[in-house]
Amino acid sequence: MAKSFTVIGNWKMYKTARQATDYIEALLPLIDGTKVNVYLAVPYTSIHPAVQYAKETPVIIGAQNMNDSREGAFTGEIAGLMLKEAGAAFVLLGHSERRNVFKEDDAFIHKKLIRAFQDDIQPVLCIGETADHHGKGKTQEVLQDQLEGALKGVPKEEASKLIVAYEPVWAIGSGKTPTAAQIQEAHGFIRDLLCELFGKKIGEGIPILYGGSVKPENVFEIGDEKDVDGVLVGGASLDPKTFASIIQNISGGAPKKRAPRTKKEKKE
Ligand code: PEP
Repeated sequence: MAKSFTVIGNWKMYKTARQATDYIEALLPLIDGTKVNVYLAVPYTSIHPAVQYAKETPVIIGAQNMNDSREGAFTGEIAGLMLKEAGAAFVLLGHSERRNVFKEDDAFIHKKLIRAFQDDIQPVLCIGETADHHGKGKTQEVLQDQLEGALKGVPKEEASKLIVAYEPVWAIGSGKTPTAAQIQEAHGFIRDLLCELFGKKIGEGIPILYGGSVKPENVFEIGDEKDVDGVLVGGASLDPKTFASIIQNISGGAPKKRAPRTKKEKKE
């Protein structure tokens, strides 16, 4: 069976509602018949119009953040229930810009994750090391802290709805990417941790996406790695043609069945 890929576009704070619907109109004919799960994380004001526009198409609309409370006196925040009613199917949580610019920590991200499950919104948990941690060889330590901090205590039946995105902070928007082998090493490590936390069956079914300077040219190689189930794309998702090329190229690079990891591979 061929791998099923998920490609998420993260528009960050770009595009008005009108620009969002123009974009979807341009994207749809370019991805006609695709088997890739196409997600777009759009600004809050674009969620409702984008959902209306993308109805009965392969494009799934979601949000880039949410608060951990059901409702309350939190000026400027947005609740999962509000996103749900606007039609959001998923939400990015723990993106490095939220962690670094808005100082969100693992405990807060954990609470948001629990809330997202309660509000029936699929969480996409973003994790990744900084350049400093990468340079000091601490990537796995950081990934373990962020994964366990966000996921410990999450019930198995909820975990099966999760997506994890590995996004090295130094690769985001920088034009730099790890080698495909480094990406696989990180994804293999994440896979093993997910299996430890939730058991093999669920751990192996959780999609792990790579994010950080993905382009049409490099996605083929990245998508070919065993534990890469898709990509999360920032800058290159803003143009529908470029985003469509990424979707086409990743599915062109697909057809590897994930073989169970051997004991030797796990030790390496
Ligand atoms: C991101 O914002 O999650 C991201 C991966 O950005 P970029 O593709 O621009 O590196």
